[in-house]
Amino acid sequence: MHEPETFDVVVLGAGPVGENVADRARAAGLTVAIVERELIGGECSYWACVPSKALLRPVLALDDARRVDGARQAVSSSIDAAGVFGRRNRYVGDWDDSGQADWVNGIGATLVRGHGRLDGPRRVVVATEAGDVTLTARHAVVICTGTRAALPDLPGMADARPWTNREATEATSVPRRLAVVGAGGVGVEMATAWQGLGSAVTLLVRGSGLLPRMEPFVGEYVARGLADAGVDVRTGVSVTRLERAGDGPVRLQLTDDSELEVDEILFATGRTPVTGDIGLETVGLTPGDWLEVDDTCRVRAVDDGWLYACGDANHRALLTHVGKYQARVAGDAIGARAAGQPLDTAPWGVHAATADHHAVPQVFFTDPEAAAVGLTAEQAERAGRRVQVVDVEMGDAVMGAKLHADGYRGRARMVVDADESFLLGVAFVGPGVAELLHSATIAVSGRVPMHRLWHAVPCFPTISEIWLRLLEAYRDAEHG
Ligand SMILES: Cc1cc2nc3c(=O)[nH]c(=O)nc-3n(C[C@H](O)[C@H](O)[C@H](O)COP(=O)(O)OP(=O)(O)OC[C@H]3O[C@@H](n4cnc5c(N)ncnc54)[C@H](O)[C@@H]3O)c2cc1C
Repeated sequence: MHEPETFDVVVLGAGPVGENVADRARAAGLTVAIVERELIGGECSYWACVPSKALLRPVLALDDARRVDGARQAVSSSIDAAGVFGRRNRYVGDWDDSGQADWVNGIGATLVRGHGRLDGPRRVVVATEAGDVTLTARHAVVICTGTRAALPDLPGMADARPWTNREATEATSVPRRLAVVGAGGVGVEMATAWQGLGSAVTLLVRGSGLLPRMEPFVGEYVARGLADAGVDVRTGVSVTRLERAGDGPVRLQLTDDSELEVDEILFATGRTPVTGDIGLETVGLTPGDWLEVDDTCRVRAVDDGWLYACGDANHRALLTHVGKYQARVAGDAIGARAAGQPLDTAPWGVHAATADHHAVPQVFFTDPEAAAVGLTAEQAERAGRRVQVVDVEMGDAVMGAKLHADGYRGRARMVVDADESFLLGVAFVGPGVAELLHSATIAVSGRVPMHRLWHAVPCFPTISEIWLRLLEAYRDAEHG
C-alpha cells in the first residue's frame, strides 16, 4: 500500500465526462486525480459514438450520392468494407489512448490507472499494477463510470456469444447475416451501418415502432429507410432462446414462434450502470444502482455534499454531450464551493444542469437522419402543457431540401407551448437534418418567443428554410 495522496477532487472514470469534470475543476485552480481502469476517453471514444459514426459516415455518404442525379451514376461499385474499417481504426486511434493520456497530463491532472472503489467518505482506493493507491479528496469525488450493455437473461445466451456495442463497433469482418435486437438509437444505427457494409440485417423490434422516445413519425420514416436499404424490419417480436454449436450459425427462437438463423446477433437492449463494484456500500448506497443527483450533480442520498455523479452513471440522459454539459456545471460548482463563492443554482443558472429537464438534443445517423430536442407532443401533454403541434413535409415545401436530394423525404414538427408561445420541442427526420438541430436547441433552451423566431432568417436555398414553413403553418393554424 502506497502513502495516501490528497487532491481537491478525485474523478472516478476517464470517459468524456470524467475528462471534462477534470478539465473544469483544474480551470478552477483545484488539484485533480483522475482514475481509469481501461482506456482514457471511455466507451464513447472506442466502442460507441466515435467508431459507430466512423462506420456510418461512408454508408450515408454513398446514400447521399445515390440521391443526386449525375452523382448517382458515378457510384458504380459496392462499399469497400476494408476501407471503412481502416477509417474507423484511425478515428479510435487503433484503441491506443496515449494521445488522451497526454491531454490529461497537459491539463495538469494526475492520472491513476487501475480499478477505483470508494472506501468511505472522500476516499478512493485504486488497485494499480503496483499495488493499492489511496486517494483522498478535500472537496469532491465525482463518479463518471458510465454504463455497459444490458443483456437479457435468455437460454443459450452464453453459447451464442452475442455482440454488444463493443463487438458491433470493433468488428473487422462483415457477417453474412446479422440480427439486431432493439430499435433504440444503438439498434437502428448499427442496423444501418451493417446493412450498408454488406450484411443481411434483420431488425427485431419488441414494440410497435422504432426510436420510441422520439415523435412516432420519426421512427416510421427510419423504418421505411431501413426497409428500402434491404433490412428486414420485424415489429412486435423478440427472442426467446438462442442456440449455437461451436462456430456455427446462431438459431433464434422468436416470440411469434418463428425461427431465424443468422451468423451473429447484436443485442442493443439498453444500458446498465457501471456502479456494481465501486464501493457504493461503503458510503451507504446500493451497488449497481443509478446515482440520483440534484442539478449541480451532487448525489442526493449522501450527506455533506462531497459525492457527485455525472454522465451516464446518473441516468439523466445517456448521451456524451449531455454528460459533458453536466461535467461543466459540476466542475464549476465544485470550484465555486471550494472557493466559498455563492452558487447560481436557479433554473438556467450557471450552476444548474437545467437543460437536462427541458432541452436534451439527440441525433441518430440513420438514413434518413433523426434529430430531436425537448419534449414530444405526448410528453408535453403528459407534463400538463397546452400544446399546439405543427407538422410540415420537408420534401414538398423546402427548395433547399429538394436541391440536397432528388425526391427528398422528410418531416419536421414543432411543439409549441400554446399559453406562453415558445417551443417545447422540435423533431426533424430527413437527409442532412442532423446539422439543423442546434438551431432548434437554441430556440428551445433560449425559450425564444414565437414572434421573434420570424426574425431568425434562414438562408435560401438551405434545408433550414423549414423554419419558415413551420412558422407559416403555425401562423395559419393560429388564424384558422
Ligand atoms: C453504440 C453507441 C453509440 C453511441 N453514440 C453516441 C453518440 O453518437 N452521441 C452521444 O452523445 N452518445 C452516444 N452514445 C452514448 C455515449 O457513449 C455515452 O453517453 C457516453 O460514453 C457516456 O460517457 P461517460 O463518460 O459517462 O461514460 P463512459 O464513456 O462509459 O466512460 C466511463 C469510463 O469509466 C471507466 N471506469 C468505470 N468504472 C471504473 C472504475 N471502477 N475505476 C476506474 N475506471 C472506471 C471506464 O473504463 C470508462 O473509461 C452511444 C452509445 C453507444 C453504446
